[in-house]
Amino acid sequence: MTVAKFGGSSLADANGFARVKEIIKENDIPIVIASAPGGKEKITDMLIAAYNEWERTGSCDGRYGLIGERFLSIAAAFGIDIERSLAAIKAAINSGRGYDYAVSRGEFLSARILAEILGYNFVDARECVKLTLSGEIDFASIIAHSGAIKVPCVIPGFYGKMPNGEIKLLPRGGSDISGAAIAAAIKGDYMKWTDVDGIFDGHGGVIDHLGYDEAELLCYFGATVMQYEAIPLIKRADVPLTVKNTFSHSRGTVVGKMRCDGFAFSSRRFFEGGEEAYAHVDEIAGEGLKIPFRVSLLKERKVLIDDCGFSPLALKRILRYGGLKQVTVTAAIGNVPPSFMPGDLLFSGENGKIFVDDRDL
Ligand code: ASP
Repeated sequence: MTVAKFGGSSLADANGFARVKEIIKENDIPIVIASAPGGKEKITDMLIAAYNEWERTGSCDGRYGLIGERFLSIAAAFGIDIERSLAAIKAAINSGRGYDYAVSRGEFLSARILAEILGYNFVDARECVKLTLSGEIDFASIIAHSGAIKVPCVIPGFYGKMPNGEIKLLPRGGSDISGAAIAAAIKGDYMKWTDVDGIFDGHGGVIDHLGYDEAELLCYFGATVMQYEAIPLIKRADVPLTVKNTFSHSRGTVVGKMRCDGFAFSSRRFFEGGEEAYAHVDEIAGEGLKIPFRVSLLKERKVLIDDCGFSPLALKRILRYGGLKQVTVTAAIGNVPPSFMPGDLLFSGENGKIFVDDRDL
């Protein structure tokens, strides 16, 4: 059974929802995972701003109004009435339902609307995406609750339910993880629909076929096409992943067990043998994507960097990710200036500071 996840760029507006409906019908997709509308301004960022406004002033009404407008314009194009849901969510945020609840409502509303457009069941992530108290995927519990996935259905990505009943967010981009967990639990195949033709090599070509480990490595080092934490879930269950473009008819990239002894080929170049495939991935990570390093966050969390070069802009983006105040670089690949020494302060701005880790750089 196919589990297909549609990212925020595919669901940015009413045209996006219409296009996604066509794809789902054409491919007869029974289980759909929906992100919050993305595009120029991501609904998730707008919800974070609305929550912050509530924290500052006791009311999210100003910022929330913009979110409501966006959803209303999507729903209205399909004759769907969501005023009551919008009002209920606003009231809940204003009554202090908390950050994770507030920020998860983008996916919630997106999935509700898409389910109605398709005539599918809406299955809340609370019913089937089970998390541990620390917010990790609880795979055994997801399998145990897979009966809640009544097909055909749309499930919101990006959040799940902890054993204490509370909603918990996954990391940013986490709808990929929701989809991977569900695909792995039901042993379905996994499709990710996004706004690029697949996973790119370092020469501008799309890679046709890639092993799980190479895909994880690439995504870890910054290929933002997929949240890297999704890959081990599908690898463990040996569920194949196809990355496809919502806006073109490209073949896409298939991630799965390496065929033969392992090879990766792209539309531009061909690589044979496991070692060469790895070399290729290194080359992509080092040159093509120009991912300079990975960082570990103070609270042991990891973050991906998808910016080119070691620029102040890249560093600012790292700090903005999750509202962090301090980040430590723990490992480097690619084009890192040799002058950086452990303990060096790399960047200091109004948002925070970045140091070179003195443990293992
Ligand atoms: N909407 C969330 C984000 O912007 C999660 C996702 O799209 O996967 O990060």
